[in-house]
Amino acid sequence: MSLEVLDREPPAPGSALEIAPGVLWVRMPLPLALDHVNLWILRDEEKKRYALLDTGMDTGPTRDAWSTLIEGPLAGERAVAVIVSHLHPDHVGLAHWLCDRLGVPLRMTLAEYLGACLIQGRSPPADAATLGRFYTRHGATERELASFEGRARFYIRAVPRLPASLRRIEAGKVIPLGLDWQVGTGAGHSPEHAFFHCPETSVLISGDLLLPTISSNVSVFTLEPEGDPLGDFLAALARFLAFGDDTLVLPAHGRPFRGARTRVGELFAHHEERLARLLAALSGSFATASDMVPVLFERELSDHERAFAFGETLAHLHRLWQAGFLERREDPERITFGGRRTGPDEIRHAARRAVGIAAGIVPDQE
Ligand SMILES: [Zn+2]
Repeated sequence: MSLEVLDREPPAPGSALEIAPGVLWVRMPLPLALDHVNLWILRDEEKKRYALLDTGMDTGPTRDAWSTLIEGPLAGERAVAVIVSHLHPDHVGLAHWLCDRLGVPLRMTLAEYLGACLIQGRSPPADAATLGRFYTRHGATERELASFEGRARFYIRAVPRLPASLRRIEAGKVIPLGLDWQVGTGAGHSPEHAFFHCPETSVLISGDLLLPTISSNVSVFTLEPEGDPLGDFLAALARFLAFGDDTLVLPAHGRPFRGARTRVGELFAHHEERLARLLAALSGSFATASDMVPVLFERELSDHERAFAFGETLAHLHRLWQAGFLERREDPERITFGGRRTGPDEIRHAARRAVGIAAGIVPDQE
């Protein structure tokens, strides 16, 4: 089937729209090129209680919008938890304020919470010196280094504090809230991103793991300098192939849609095309990750986008390296990637295998 995007106008800030049984749709503004985030309220109508799912960034307009909701449509109902899908600022930023205000625990996966603490505290390896060394070895320019530092500072502004403890959620567990919400997790976009599926109503809250129109950012970070986040992300996407076309997907950005499998297929093709571009550019030569950014991103990038573009390029290089299609050369000053001279057919085949092996959809030998 083709992607079926729901023809519903998104709710205005401060209002909530019932989008599925027991799920209210809330949308908050973001001060970024990506100008909104979708958040959800899981509601147990019988017991008059609810949980918030993701919070938005810590900004004045987002606090005001939540206050309007809590004092308006949610007044008279009891909050039980603030659930957070992952550590990015548009998802966890206001968790500290909402948990305090509602007197409820934070519910999050352990790796996401610990990752947030690390970035928020600028603790090694999220400190400026480690970041600078890591990206310099990958050939980062001054502008790129400034962009990484800017992103780190942006995180602290959008997530000024975190709740001091949590009640952990993990894959395979169920959150009962009128309906039963099954927790799944996937890595790649972030370390242990949670998603939530209600089999009874065929609703999947996918967070940033499955988006209808944009591809989720996938970046290599200093915590795992040899990591393969794109491989992890493709494996996470493959998990969504289990959800049929009747499943309503509620994504963190864009509009709710049906056709999870179609979208996964589109994203596999998207990453395959980008891997092929890198293989073609590195056919018979070596270069740094920084050199390869313009191969994947042809347009002029904003300072904020530059860090994402760099991380994304490195993630694609690492996928090809881990799959055995590129060599990675490391000396104290520089890390470079390169391959032997290859033709278009071989490149297409290699890119397809680099995706398929990670997603578990082709045999790992030939
Ligand atoms: Zn995210």
